[in-house]
Amino acid sequence: PPGGSAKESLELKDIFIAVKTTRKYHKTRLELLFQTWISRARGQTFIFTDWEDRELRLKAGDHMINTNCSAVHTRQALCCKMSVEYDKFLESGQKWFCHVDDDNYVNPRTLLRLLSAFSPSQDVYVGRPSLDHPIEAADHVQSDGSKTSVKFWFATGGAGFCISRGLALKMSPWASLGNFISTAERVRLPDDCTIGYIIEGLLEVKLLHSPLFHSHLENLQRLQGESVLQQVTLSYGDPENKHNVVSVGGVFGLQQDPTRFKSVHCLLYPDTIWCPNKKMS
Ligand code: UDP
Ligand code: MN
Repeated sequence: PPGGSAKESLELKDIFIAVKTTRKYHKTRLELLFQTWISRARGQTFIFTDWEDRELRLKAGDHMINTNCSAVHTRQALCCKMSVEYDKFLESGQKWFCHVDDDNYVNPRTLLRLLSAFSPSQDVYVGRPSLDHPIEAADHVQSDGSKTSVKFWFATGGAGFCISRGLALKMSPWASLGNFISTAERVRLPDDCTIGYIIEGLLEVKLLHSPLFHSHLENLQRLQGESVLQQVTLSYGDPENKHNVVSVGGVFGLQQDPTRFKSVHCLLYPDTIWCPNKKMS
């Protein structure tokens, strides 16, 4: 409009959500995600795994990406997956890259609201720091043999994080087409730390610390009632920490919904077919 600045509003389709998974979690973890939040963000969610699973292929089509990375929990294998996630995002042309684990619930509405506050051409890296202090990494070796080090914050991969397209493009020399793996090897860091190293350490862009992302490294029981529905991501404790789940009552019991994701989903989307007393829409 004349004189008006036509600020385009962000839509869910502008966001690329990468879910990292592995062969052994296709049934035990991914199925729950398909039943819940992925059903509300199908078009923007891509599953990065390490095994050609025919059943998953039928369900996800070309939204399942077989990375051909090895199915072991090593730095190399995990960085291999992150590297493919990054490349696929750049290829997609979408405005935002968000990474989550297969034990995360993503609230598509609050994710959209959070990212709407920024422009994808700004440098944005947002997530939850996994420590309460920055980490230090030995960077490069000087010609005299001494080492320089850099201090930086990184967003914990287990809580999910997002990166704007503008920033992702700047990361390209250290992140695209296999460079991510060499960068991670050089600093000997896991995938999520390496992302922080590239962004804070090399590009000097600061992580935006957000309390809306959650991993099972925190006490999730402290998240209760209405506020659970206002978070961007949630998680749940592993079998040895079964009690580490968010507190939502009144929908399903712990027996039927040990992770609480089904209860959260029914509170957010009560018109879902399998939700109790579903409201007619
Ligand atoms: N994962 C993987 N390969 C493996 C083991 C795990 O890609 O060999 C993925 C898993 O699917 C999840 C993430 O890495 O998305 C973190 O795994 P998990 O939750 O088991 O461990 P955590 O680090 O959270 O304790
Ligand atoms: Mn986990």
